[in-house]
Amino acid sequence: MQQGSAPKISFVSLGCPKALVDSERIITRLRAEGYELARKHDGADVVIVNTCGFLDSAKQESLSAIGSAMAENGKVIVTGCMGAEPEQIEQAYPGVLSITGPQQYESVLEAVHRASPPIHNPHLDLVPPQGIKLTPRHYAYLKISEGCNNRCTFCIIPKLRGDLVSRPAADVLREAERLVAAGVKELLVISQDTSAYGLDLKYAESSWKDRSVRARFLDLARELGELGAWVRLHYVYPYPHVDEVVGLMAEGRVLPYLDIPFQHASPNVLKAMRRPAAQDKTLDRIKSWRAACPDLALRSTFIVGFPGETDADFAYLLDWLDEAEIDRLGCFKYEPVAGATSNALPDQVPDEVKQERWNALMARQQKISARRLKRKVGTRQQIIIDEVGPTVAKGRSKADAPEIDGSVYVSSRRPLRVGEIVTARIERADEYDLHGTVAGF
Ligand code: SF4
Repeated sequence: MQQGSAPKISFVSLGCPKALVDSERIITRLRAEGYELARKHDGADVVIVNTCGFLDSAKQESLSAIGSAMAENGKVIVTGCMGAEPEQIEQAYPGVLSITGPQQYESVLEAVHRASPPIHNPHLDLVPPQGIKLTPRHYAYLKISEGCNNRCTFCIIPKLRGDLVSRPAADVLREAERLVAAGVKELLVISQDTSAYGLDLKYAESSWKDRSVRARFLDLARELGELGAWVRLHYVYPYPHVDEVVGLMAEGRVLPYLDIPFQHASPNVLKAMRRPAAQDKTLDRIKSWRAACPDLALRSTFIVGFPGETDADFAYLLDWLDEAEIDRLGCFKYEPVAGATSNALPDQVPDEVKQERWNALMARQQKISARRLKRKVGTRQQIIIDEVGPTVAKGRSKADAPEIDGSVYVSSRRPLRVGEIVTARIERADEYDLHGTVAGF
């Protein structure tokens, strides 16, 4: 692997549709972590062979696929049905790095991480720092493009991953459909810049079922909304065409949730960051979105202590937050990333000032979050259940993405199942979470 470039995985998927779903879940996760797929074993950092052990002929095919991978690459991870009885594989290929049975996604990913670690960078990762568990089958990340055409000064993604490369719409929809067929109830759409989707393909059409679908953010979101799962959109920039997608949210086709990494509000800082779609009308846009879709939840991330950020810029950000009433917020203290152009900017902010600003911003947000959540007391909300306990289950409303937002704790007369969507009456709110009782199934 070249210094700084994404690790490459070569993948062989054998067997039935169930094995294919396993392969897709592993690939989706690896893509989300920044791995790339290689076309050939030769030159890949590691090869994964998802085997089939149903018939002797299938076992032979699996063994020969492992053999080719060993010969052409040598770093091979085996999973799938044949991995459930590893002896035959161990005998034939003692050098295989790891062997696991079907659906043991986490073990496969651990083996990949050991063989070729992901590049961890808080400015690069699309997934939460604690990683994604693959075990819950009720939500899945769906990566729609790679790379980015923007050149934000604090970010090295375009250097590492290159310009935007979108997947054809039909390709994304096929993966989404298979995930839903495998029990996924919520699709989390991710990319570096979701609203730029399809630009590189000139919005080309591809065949999906009986129709053609353009590789356009709006068209893709509409089609994803037809699959019968919750669709949550992450990493959207406030370009004008986002208004149309808010229309889909108002119609209930995709979740009324927008994750927009604003990073700052002060025009000076946004300019120094070279942020896309940064314009002074953003507050007006937010107001008009909320007028069109009153349930809209906004999530965002911000960076404090960016070089050149003055007290006045920071005060501007706090006032802006009060007006924008961002529902959910993550905040980072600026850190230089090797290779980023912002490293050379003058007026770096001292660490203690960054910390003070971080504390002040989080305190302000806590109040805003508490105020917004309080308005939900007395309402009915649909809740997707993530974890079940003896008396109370933990879930999320449409306004909460897994692993990064708040939770809704619900009590219920009958035991709930993970992945079930119930209606709950909200009875209490605290700073970040809601509490209620199930009122309908
Ligand atoms: S939009 Fe900016 S921060 Fe996001 S990946 Fe592109 S260059 Fe990096």
